[in-house]
This record gives sequence, C-alpha cells and structure tokens, in this order.
Amino acid sequence: MKEDYPYWEEPYRFVFDARIVSCKKQSDNFLVGLSSEIARPEGGGQAGDKGIIKVDDQEISFSNTVSSDNGIALLTSEPIEEQECEIQIDKNWRLAMMRNHTAEHLFMNAMKRAESNSELGYIWIDGIKGTIEIAGKVNESDLFAAEELVQRWIMGGIPVNTRYIESKELDKSIRAREGITDKHDYIRVLQVEGVDESACSGTHVSNTSEIHAFKILDYSSLESGLRVEFATAEQALSILSQIYNQILPRKKSYPFEMHQIGPVLDKAKRTAEEIEEMTNKLAELLCKGPNIEELEGIEFRHEFLPGLGIKEMREILMPMSFDRPTALLYFSPGKKSNLIFWTHFLERDASEYIGDIVTNLGGRGGGSGDAYNGGFTDVEDPRELYNELVKKLKMSLI
Ligand SMILES: [Zn+2]
Repeated sequence: MKEDYPYWEEPYRFVFDARIVSCKKQSDNFLVGLSSEIARPEGGGQAGDKGIIKVDDQEISFSNTVSSDNGIALLTSEPIEEQECEIQIDKNWRLAMMRNHTAEHLFMNAMKRAESNSELGYIWIDGIKGTIEIAGKVNESDLFAAEELVQRWIMGGIPVNTRYIESKELDKSIRAREGITDKHDYIRVLQVEGVDESACSGTHVSNTSEIHAFKILDYSSLESGLRVEFATAEQALSILSQIYNQILPRKKSYPFEMHQIGPVLDKAKRTAEEIEEMTNKLAELLCKGPNIEELEGIEFRHEFLPGLGIKEMREILMPMSFDRPTALLYFSPGKKSNLIFWTHFLERDASEYIGDIVTNLGGRGGGSGDAYNGGFTDVEDPRELYNELVKKLKMSLI
C-alpha cells in the first residue's frame, strides 16, 4: 500500500477540520489524539508540526506532533475533551522545515559530487535549522564548494517533485538509506529535476527557489566525517545580518575592509598569544636580568623578544648607552621575524659581522655604521633560527 498523508499531498495547506478522539496525560503534557493524520509527526529525522487547536472560541497550542498507537497525537500543556475542532498548522515552522529538508537533499548531492563515498548519517531537521552528519573523507573546502553549488541550484528555480516506486525498482541512481526496502513495499522518492533523486518521508518545497538562501552555520570534525549545521531563507539571512552588523560599526573605529575580517581575527589571536609570550619574557628579564655574554673583551647582549616589531625594539635600544665594546642583537619572532643588531666601539661596521650570516640563513637586511636591520619570511621555527643566529654571531664577533 502506498501511504498518503495531507502533509505529503498538500504540504501548503495549513488549516484542517478534525475530531479529537482521545486525550492522555503524559508526564507534564497531554497527548491529544486526532481522527486523521493531518499534521506531520516527528520522525525520519524531521521534527513534528506545531500549531493551534481551535475549539469554539478557545485556542490551545500544540508544541509537537508524535506518532501514537492509533494515529497521531498533538502535544499540549492542557487537556481537551473529545470533540470537533479546527487544526491550524504553524505555517512558518512547517515552511522552514520544508525548505531545510529540501536544502539537505541538495547539499548531500553536492557533497557526493565532491566525495562520492560520502554518506548521510545522523539527520535532524526542524523549523530553525538542519543538522546532519556526513561520513566520508570530506573536508572544509568541499563544504564551502557544496554550499555555493546549493545556492546556485536555489537561484536556478528547479522544480521538486514526488513520486512512488515499488521497492524492487530502487537502484543506485536514487539515494536511500540501507534497509529501506525491507520496511516498505513502496518508496517515496523526492526528485529535484536534473539534480537529485532520493528516498525521503519528509516534507519539501515544490521549487528550489522557495529555499531563498542556504548557509552553513557551523561544522565540526567527527571520527570519520563532519557534523554540519545549516539554515535557509530568513533564518540564514538573519544570522548573517546579526554577524555583519556587529562587524560594521567596528570597521569605523578600527579601519579594515569587510573582506579582511579573517586576517583581522588571525591578528587578534596572534596578539593574544604574543602578549602571553611577552609576559613570560618580561618575567624572565625581571628575574634573571638581560642575557649578557663576555666574548674576549666584547659585551654581547642578545634577547628573543616576542610581540615586538623593529620600531619597538629600536625604542627600547635608543636610550641605552655603553662605554665599552658592545654588540646587541634583538630578535622579534614570528612567521615574519625581524632583528636589530647594534654595535658600539667595535672595529668594523655592524653589517660586516652579521650581514653574511643573515643572508646564508635565508634572510635579508642592511644598514650602515653601528646599525643593522634584518628580516626573515616564512620562518617555521623562530627559536631555532634565533639560536643559530646567536651561535654564528658569537663566532663572527670573536
Ligand atoms: Zn527530505
């Protein structure tokens, strides 16, 4: 037998006449049984309908629909007697579920195009968002490419149809969960024309354009695969607006372009890390004092200074005065590392001691007289680079 429900045949109808046939207390709530299955019960990874039961002038809201032994039951917080009633399905909740479920079909298809072995695991669709788990070798870039493809299909206004096939007709061209043919003689197949066919018992929109917008809200890695949360239409847009509007005023006081928000956040993270390293360095300086080594009549001072740039290191060096032969190396570590090398009362120019060392270690620099500035890009291990510099510089100074 093919099953046939109003929420499948007429998903855009929201008002029905019905008869309340039972009312049972279940913990703090009541399960109100209906004569016909006009609301969609929770199941198959989709939340149930919610809405209002209208009896005479009274309106009682129901927060969910569940399957019961004899049909469906609506979850209410107060009891209702057996009688005729009008059921008003919460239109926004239903439509959002239809959008989210259809978007899930598009998204899984797009993910399969990126990684053919990816499979849908856990799924939960409600009127706010969708949450799915995708098993397989999928990664971030697949996700974002799939999101873009889904948005293109939405803009394309593709018809979405439902048909029934006999279980034995099910083949590889239709996405379906394993074991589905054991449970049903007929299978309901959702077809997004030219894009996807999959077995599904959920409710869906009739054209992809009704989804309006699709946005991944979050993702996390699982042992094998990813867990992804997404939203559609106004839910997606309102979240995007909230985030955008938090950034927009900040752009006025701290000038950057909106598309640079990624690097700005990276910088904030790096700054926090650098402050921690600077604090440790400050504690070390206060406890042990500066690094000073005696090299055959030359005082060699060298410091590894996280979080500082050339300008800051110069500001620290400027007020220092020395009355004997001295060499100072200040090194600021990072992906891009900088150094200052200043000398006092030495026989040769600063660059003659350090220039070749910096070049040989892959850096660049220059200077005149007692001052030399240098830098390195793409430094993997700044501490190791610094140790190497100090070691080579000591040999050069002697
Ligand atoms: Zn579906």
